Amino acid sequence: MTFARRVHPLKRAAWRLAGCRSTAPGVLLTFDDGPHPEHTPAVLDRLAAFGLTAAFFLVGKRITDPSLVARIATAGHVLGNHTFAHAVPRWRDFRSAVADVARCQVVVPAARLFRPPLGRLTPGLWLAARRHHLPILAWSLDSGDWRCRTPADAAACAAEVVAAVRPGDVVLFHDDHPWAVPVLDAVLPALARR
Ligand SMILES: [Zn+2]
Repeated sequence: MTFARRVHPLKRAAWRLAGCRSTAPGVLLTFDDGPHPEHTPAVLDRLAAFGLTAAFFLVGKRITDPSLVARIATAGHVLGNHTFAHAVPRWRDFRSAVADVARCQVVVPAARLFRPPLGRLTPGLWLAARRHHLPILAWSLDSGDWRCRTPADAAACAAEVVAAVRPGDVVLFHDDHPWAVPVLDAVLPALARR
């Protein structure tokens, strides 16, 4: 596989200890790094067409239009805190990590979940999530969609996700790039047929 990647079982176990849950036996779709003014609405349209809800882990500093956040929530999706700045988590950055999560929670007060940038949980991020009573949700299957550069890439990525996905999976996508929609256009009909 070029795009889709299953996380290491040991990493999954660590996430379970940190409060990770999937919606077994279904598949939970999750979208990181938005909101994006163009791609997020398109993703919302695709999900609505299939009657699906997902979790959106928002980056606070990328919110330029609060009405888009409201639209995500109104459509029944779960909002998640993905920090304000999306800085690369560093083990020793304790105070800045706590402050970054708090700052995101101010602009997304309805956030009910937390996911650290790059999936890297540090002590500061862990404590910050606890302070805000945000369960940490990782993923079990990384679509690798952010690596797509061409329509052929998007088709290959989608095919790999469809081949790999299993009941109970938490699948990672990103709604901040133009290939999210082509990938979903192939993945969602295949999931709906199951
Ligand atoms: Zn991210």
